[in-house]
Amino acid sequence: MQKEAMFYKTMEDKNVHCFLCSHHCKIADSRFGFCNVRQNINGRLYTHAYGEVVAAHVDPIEKKPLYHFLPGTFSFSIAAKGCNFRCGFCQNWQISQVSGESATNPIEYPFSPEEIVKTALKEDCRSISYTYTEPTIFFEYAYDTARLADEAGLANRELIS
Ligand code: SF4
Repeated sequence: MQKEAMFYKTMEDKNVHCFLCSHHCKIADSRFGFCNVRQNINGRLYTHAYGEVVAAHVDPIEKKPLYHFLPGTFSFSIAAKGCNFRCGFCQNWQISQVSGESATNPIEYPFSPEEIVKTALKEDCRSISYTYTEPTIFFEYAYDTARLADEAGLANRELIS
């Protein structure tokens, strides 16, 4: 689903300037930023990396890899599509290197922030990890989830694994 993005401003001629990451993309109307998940629609910036995951797993916290943080517990780990890096060695390129309008996008399924927190608790996880792709790119999704998770007593991590 799409949601209006945070951290941007509208410029002349319906161009937008995104400040979410250091690319600082200036994006023309209907075009996507470098991450391929943030799109200028009629002079407003929208994220397509919200409310749908491309991966969700119950992982041991040691896989994150953390050895001195809640040892022996599980972390509910989620990812949304997209990335602002182009690493040649990426092990998750099928979900990170997407094209905004491409038919080859990875399979996504709806998962609201509320459902993520509920599932983490149900699966006896003590934390949530925003991982597998670059979590900066799905900031709005992670932010809304993290606030609910914090209220529910879950720890939140942003880690690549
Ligand atoms: S988050 Fe995406 S659109 Fe925004 S500056 Fe970074 S790469 Fe560009």
